[in-house]
Amino acid sequence: MVEDILKKNNLKVTKQRIDVLKSIIKLEDTATITNIIYNCNIDKSTIYRILNVLVKHNIIIKDVNYNNDDYYMLKNNHKHYIKCVKCNKMKLLDKCPFDSIKVSDYEIINHSLKIEGICKECKERQFG
Ligand SMILES: [Zn+2]
Ligand SMILES: [Zn+2]
Repeated sequence: MVEDILKKNNLKVTKQRIDVLKSIIKLEDTATITNIIYNCNIDKSTIYRILNVLVKHNIIIKDVNYNNDDYYMLKNNHKHYIKCVKCNKMKLLDKCPFDSIKVSDYEIINHSLKIEGICKECKERQFG
């Protein structure tokens, strides 16, 4: 399956590319650069190079993590969260707000989104 993703995008299938993609899929919501490096037995600079290639080919997107750690997700299965600034609780958004955005003369290959708010419980605590 991971091999197919690479082939479909005319990328050479290498063991290292497969390892990086597999760990992004395996780590799911915790696929930060730190965890990917920890998960793959590949040197750091190679991992960065592979991630850049995968972003350029529209296979993965790079998002900002709330702890300032880069965060990677498969493009066709990515998620965004809102975080409560008071208790840090995260809630999954039901869709990507960028899905419908088109820019003429550009192909959008990456986007990031940081949304913060106050959850219901914290709001009630604040005013209740
Ligand atoms: Zn809260
Ligand atoms: Zn998105």
